[in-house]
Amino acid sequence: MQSVNEAEAIIYSLVQPLDSQFDTETVDLLRATGRILAKPITSHLDFPHWDNSAMDGYAVRYEDVSDCNAQNPAILSIIEEIPAGYQPKSTLQAGQAARIFTGAVIPTGADTIVMQEVTQREDNQVLIKAAPKPKEFIRKKASYYQAGNELLPAGIILNAPEIAVLAAAQCNHLCVYRKPKVAILSTGDELVTVDKTLQPGQIVDSNNYALIANVQQLGAEAISYGIVPDNEEILKATIEKAVSKSSGGADIIISSGGVSVGEYDYVEKILESLGGIHIRSVAMKPGKPLTVAAFPNNKIYFGLPGNPASALVTFWRFVQPAIKKLSGLSENWRPAIIKAKASTELHSDGKRETYIWGKLKLINGEYEFEIAGGNQVSGNLINLAQTNALAILPKETKSILPGQQINVLNVLS
Ligand code: AMP
Ligand code: MG
Repeated sequence: MQSVNEAEAIIYSLVQPLDSQFDTETVDLLRATGRILAKPITSHLDFPHWDNSAMDGYAVRYEDVSDCNAQNPAILSIIEEIPAGYQPKSTLQAGQAARIFTGAVIPTGADTIVMQEVTQREDNQVLIKAAPKPKEFIRKKASYYQAGNELLPAGIILNAPEIAVLAAAQCNHLCVYRKPKVAILSTGDELVTVDKTLQPGQIVDSNNYALIANVQQLGAEAISYGIVPDNEEILKATIEKAVSKSSGGADIIISSGGVSVGEYDYVEKILESLGGIHIRSVAMKPGKPLTVAAFPNNKIYFGLPGNPASALVTFWRFVQPAIKKLSGLSENWRPAIIKAKASTELHSDGKRETYIWGKLKLINGEYEFEIAGGNQVSGNLINLAQTNALAILPKETKSILPGQQINVLNVLS
């Protein structure tokens, strides 16, 4: 049995990120939200593209206004009006100013902007009643970004700010990593799909739906293999197909159920016969039977325990970072573990690292963890609803008192 940290290290070493050359596709900018850039972006444009005004006001020559004040204003004649979007036509000479607006191009000859608020317009003249600083309110060409440099690195996720940068740089077609493909199968004779009338002893295969949702929320593509009965031959054929090189299908294969010690738990035995097992069980609660195997073509198999809470906890703890690392993210793919204050006492038997599900709340600027109400048992899926975090009690910690700090895994980040 591996510790959680050992299991994590093994899993991370097994995960090979997608290839930045072969595992890519081109998407339009409007379809790029949430995708991960596979190649760095360079632009031939400077930012700003030209010297422009940061204020509504007057473009002037600094030497004409350097020692003016309210009692002794500089009086300049206005030779042109330059709104945003226009190319100035004239060159400023001594004693001249141009009316200018935010974002408009600075005319030749001007080197400083005087903001409107310290000026007084009189017909074709303007009185400057306070001396600006030299070069004030000029947004200098290339002062934000110089053409030819790297604009965005590979391996970042494209959210609104990056989309804005790419739009501004006229990058309309982007090379992003393809979505990781994750196959999901459920094992168990008791399982049925959501639309079936339940017969005695049957339950809905809720893990399938939960895992598909989780995979999709990570920006990956879920491929459902549905329910596989507790039949060794059928299960073996299904797993073999899912992990085979030629299947071309999934990068990651997740099953739930069938990894315990019961008579009908075949997953470990099948993975054993196919070779490549790296983890047989992990010292955690819930989630002890987690089984992990690796196959050719960098395919990784996660045999999650069947109990709904165990399946989700092991998914969040191990599979989620594995999918994120695989997806090409260069950073922030590890679990987001933060410190929070326990709002009530938390218990564990201290024998294994214990994961308690509940809610992370921001209260007066501090994170608090509130345990989910109801039974904290791995078979209870009802109180998993609204869970966004897992409090982690280290091995041998039997209790955390209210107000005490604890590590919390923020599962939604
Ligand atoms: P197992 O590990 O197969 O013995 O399953 C442990 C428990 O989890 C049993 O009570 C199963 O009925 C339940 N379970 C297994 N698979 C699923 C599933 N896909 N959805 C919901 N519950 C499941
Ligand atoms: Mg089962």
